[in-house]
Amino acid sequence: MKILVATEKPFAKKATDGIKEIFSAAGYEVVLLEKYSDKAQLLEAVADVDGLIIRSDKVTAEVLDAAKCLKIVVRAGAGYDNVDLAAATAKGVVVMNTPGQNSNAVAELALAMMIYMARNRFTPGTGAELQGKTVGIHAYGNVGRLVGRKAKALGMNVIAYDPFITDAVVFENDGVEQVGSVEELYAASDFLSLHIPATEQTKKSINYKLMMSMPKGATLVNTARKEVIDEDGVKAAMMERTDLKYVTDIAPDAVAEFAELLGSRFFATPKKMGAETAEANINAGLAAARQIVDFIENGNTKFQVNR
Ligand code: NAD
Repeated sequence: MKILVATEKPFAKKATDGIKEIFSAAGYEVVLLEKYSDKAQLLEAVADVDGLIIRSDKVTAEVLDAAKCLKIVVRAGAGYDNVDLAAATAKGVVVMNTPGQNSNAVAELALAMMIYMARNRFTPGTGAELQGKTVGIHAYGNVGRLVGRKAKALGMNVIAYDPFITDAVVFENDGVEQVGSVEELYAASDFLSLHIPATEQTKKSINYKLMMSMPKGATLVNTARKEVIDEDGVKAAMMERTDLKYVTDIAPDAVAEFAELLGSRFFATPKKMGAETAEANINAGLAAARQIVDFIENGNTKFQVNR
């Protein structure tokens, strides 16, 4: 078996070493394609591999066509909107993600962003505390739950909305109040922490109306995806409501305009960094390698996302 690790943004060395060890123990060959700048390099490298590990790298129909022997692609991370699932399914290629492996890193960043904005981006002047404020968690998955638990430890009131979690115990165990609608969530949140995936249903769903419904001085915190934001709507709401703030790990397309119009009320990390910790890197990379071996040797499809 031959496995390609294709990472425009490479894993930490400790992660690649661990990945190599896992594959060599299974008797597989590993090829690394790191920091590549041209799609042609990826098209060439995938030609004869059985398995592929990627990070934010794009696996398009063209890449899948070029990969004649490919059986499995694992996205080391949570979101998998960089893989053309329909094309993979049509070619019988299994696609997996590694859920939960980088969640703690993202959750810590979400809380750091709340404190950063509450303290006026670390500039002189009177800021605010998180304790006693309400944080709304939009989607109570792996990252959302960790944000919820950590926010409770900081003395915040935590509410959440996730229509796909029907078991109330999930919320009760964390001491989190489950609200019945998105509208209710936004209207009650001093901080709104976004954790929805980018789907046809969620794209551009965070809009003018939701922003306008938030309490005075509220902050939108986005560590999810830029696609879920209706940029024009959010911008318009923030121009009208000069008390609102927006902090994001995924810069909007119109990032320069946001920065110019909104000044210190807006902050975007220069490059997506939610999962960029040594720990998350290693966890996700090793999990991806183990999942490939487990799939090829035992047919385990537990983390398959294109069924
Ligand atoms: P997850 O799959 O564990 O959880 C997603 C949750 O969203 C699920 O509980 C699901 O029920 C819920 N959901 C789906 N559609 C919804 C909707 N329409 N309304 C409300 N809830 C909905 O994913 P996760 O690991 O918690 O990651 C959350 C998001 O964070 C992912 O979309 C991913 O793209 C993003 N992420 C960003 C970074 C980063 O570097 N900033 C890193 C990891 C993940």
